Amino acid sequence: MKDATLALHYGYDKDKQKTMQVPIYMTTAYEYEDTDHAARLFDLQEEGNIYTRIGNPTTRVFEKRISAIERGIDALATASGMAAIFYAISNLIKSGDNVIISDKLYGGSITLNTQTLKQFNIEAKYFNVHNPEELNELIDEKTKLILIESVANPALTVPEFDSIIEIAKRHNVIVICDNTIATPYGVKPIELGVDIVVHSASKYIVGNGSAIAGCIIEAPFAKEKLKTDRYPQFNEPDESYHGLVYNEKFENPFIARARLALLRDYGAVISPFNSWLLLQGLEHLHLRIKEHSNNALKIAKFLETHPKIKKVNYPFLETDVNYAYAKKYLKYAGGIVSFEVENYESAKNIVKNLKIFSLVTNIGDSKSLATHPASTTHQQLSHEELEAAGVPEGLIRLSIGLEDVDDLIDDLRNAIEKTN
Ligand SMILES: *Cc1c(COP(=O)(O)O)cnc(C)c1O
Repeated sequence: MKDATLALHYGYDKDKQKTMQVPIYMTTAYEYEDTDHAARLFDLQEEGNIYTRIGNPTTRVFEKRISAIERGIDALATASGMAAIFYAISNLIKSGDNVIISDKLYGGSITLNTQTLKQFNIEAKYFNVHNPEELNELIDEKTKLILIESVANPALTVPEFDSIIEIAKRHNVIVICDNTIATPYGVKPIELGVDIVVHSASKYIVGNGSAIAGCIIEAPFAKEKLKTDRYPQFNEPDESYHGLVYNEKFENPFIARARLALLRDYGAVISPFNSWLLLQGLEHLHLRIKEHSNNALKIAKFLETHPKIKKVNYPFLETDVNYAYAKKYLKYAGGIVSFEVENYESAKNIVKNLKIFSLVTNIGDSKSLATHPASTTHQQLSHEELEAAGVPEGLIRLSIGLEDVDDLIDDLRNAIEKTN
């Protein structure tokens, strides 16, 4: 089946009530047939529902659907995008290991890797996704993963996937790709050779800014790397499951361990109600992402021609440093556009004068959003630090929504022309 059909039907077998909507199973626990049945479930001899912290039927439909659309073999939904990223990483590391991360990542992913995981004796090393040769120098026997974003938030960088994947394969290192902005309709990282895909489903997947959620998807070939000495936790007995060996028991060892060990013990489970919202979002994500991306490109082109605008960033602009990579790897680049005006004051005033765009720190909503990082999220940084972080004082970030694009262009034009 093709994606749009999968998005509407996959993973849901109608029950006796024949409900067209996937039912929301708001339940903590499930009754066993008898104690033998319970024992079989706990011993993983039989699949079934035990307790919603490790699985829920509504959530399971979402997991099957997103996995099919991303071309994975299985998925795990989590309470947030950050929980998905943390679980994907902590499934691979132990104290003393290191991770290699793109120097253009979502802020939360940077602090997780460079600050929070440091407390667990994990070292983070940066690399430039346009210069993957650096990986050859950085990878050592303690390296457990490479983390990239298919379209980075907020830098909009698109990686040179082929070389990153080729080098990672040579060293048997797992590649994790955050596909939040591009979505599986912009690019399917697994088809390019990425082992593990993660999402903040709070953005385009849910689509209307109504829920915080995340997910992890495992590629069918991730197991080949997990079988090597680099990842002993998948090849040695897990004492918490009577000596279970994940690679022997499962075709999907990464998701199995993330669910059975990490979700069991860390517990950032998604609410079944939020899983249902994600199913609503998936039904038309393929239509929305096309529209978000088309609107964003039109707006980027308008801004590029405006005399008061110094610079515009969007991967599908021919003048953008990411253009060649976007052409090679992406079908859509999503709805995030950033642009630079003369200084801090002008940027602040333009954002203030916008009428349709709301001043919000979020992306991927159906409504258009604008932020001025220098006066909000990056307020504590000095002028020099802002430049180094790729967030100049005059930078405005837009998340282009689904309003009529002519209205959005008028709103931007008025706000820019009203501002000196
Ligand atoms: C928002 C975001 C996250 C974090 O997701 P939450 O759902 O807010 O926890 C991670 N990665 C990217 C690229 C994001 O945009």
